[in-house]
Amino acid sequence: MTILPTDRFATKAIHAGAHVDVHGSVIEPISLSTTFKQTAPAQPVGQYEYSRSQNPNRHNLEEAVAALENGKYGLAFSSGSATTAVILQSLPQGSHAISIGDVYGGTHRYFTKVANTHGVETTFTNELVEQLPNLVKDNTKLVWIESPTNPTLKVTDIQLVANTVKKINPEILLVVDNTFLSPYLSNPLTFGADIVVHSATKYINGHSDVVLGVLATNSKALYERLQFLQNAVGAIPSPFDAWLAHRGLKTLHLRVRQAALNATKIAEFLTQSDKVVSVSYPGLSTHPNYDVVKKQHRDALGGGMISFRIKGGAEAAAKFTSSTRLFTLAESLGGIESLLEVPAVMTHGGIPKDQREASGVYDDLIRLSVGIEDTEDLLADIKQALDVSV
Ligand SMILES: *Cc1c(COP(=O)(O)O)cnc(C)c1O
Repeated sequence: MTILPTDRFATKAIHAGAHVDVHGSVIEPISLSTTFKQTAPAQPVGQYEYSRSQNPNRHNLEEAVAALENGKYGLAFSSGSATTAVILQSLPQGSHAISIGDVYGGTHRYFTKVANTHGVETTFTNELVEQLPNLVKDNTKLVWIESPTNPTLKVTDIQLVANTVKKINPEILLVVDNTFLSPYLSNPLTFGADIVVHSATKYINGHSDVVLGVLATNSKALYERLQFLQNAVGAIPSPFDAWLAHRGLKTLHLRVRQAALNATKIAEFLTQSDKVVSVSYPGLSTHPNYDVVKKQHRDALGGGMISFRIKGGAEAAAKFTSSTRLFTLAESLGGIESLLEVPAVMTHGGIPKDQREASGVYDDLIRLSVGIEDTEDLLADIKQALDVSV
């Protein structure tokens, strides 16, 4: 199917990378073959030779992700973490990187426990825009941001960061982890990012049954460098996982819109409750970065993630998270089903308490990943769990 530049999001989600095979199959078959026939040495029958280098299902997914992120090129990896690893491996030895402070835990771990052993040093800051001019060094090669952040949902003005970075040195790469919003709510490349990355494990696949990562870029040189590493490192998704993630992506717009509508109702309810200390949700006009949300998110939607502090400390948080009927207590996010967790003892348990609290992750903080169940049922679940725990 040819995608036109004028095609809108849902049309691209359904048709980008959806190619008809020799049988006319409307849905692409899963191509499990590890190798592809050649008619003469170095003369493959089609465009594929060996499945680590490229495979039809991965190729289709990469094409679809690029289309949804308004990028020219896409690449898929075995996980979001593998995507991060390959980008950081692409930096020359002796490079310096700057990262937003409350970055995803696995990304922080890679920067501080792996990349540094290959001679890449990272500076973390919670005041990225203000601090950039002071932090950039001669060897700074990359700036890494995540918006909204996890779990406190601070929103960063990507365009402002891009302008600031490029003014200092146009060679510095700006990478945005767009996992929490998905390509439906925001497209960082259009705000000046060089690379956008996703843990497709979350919203893009959306059904909590695949671990996979993707990136998109408009730079041919970057794409070729990263594709070379994708093949050299071999951290690639299986054809089945690529096929599943591509299937999931086709309903991304419906799922993310419903999750955001549900989350908005829940966030509004929590804001009114006297059992709640504070609520962080980018879709509320009271969010400190709402002016950025309005220009950076589709229809100013806040996404499906909420965090809030419950009255009664860690004890109330533990009681609440074991009292919900529909929200399952589990890590991860972005699936059709609602999940919840206590970051201080789960996803962010490895961070020392003082550092954790400095970025707002208190013992009473609860993170919700709002799914696409009926709004009223989810609201009733939150209400009854608050009633029994506070
Ligand atoms: C989950 C996640 C990752 C890591 O992705 P995996 O697929 O679990 O390796 C990276 N960034 C963010 C924001 C995430 O939520």
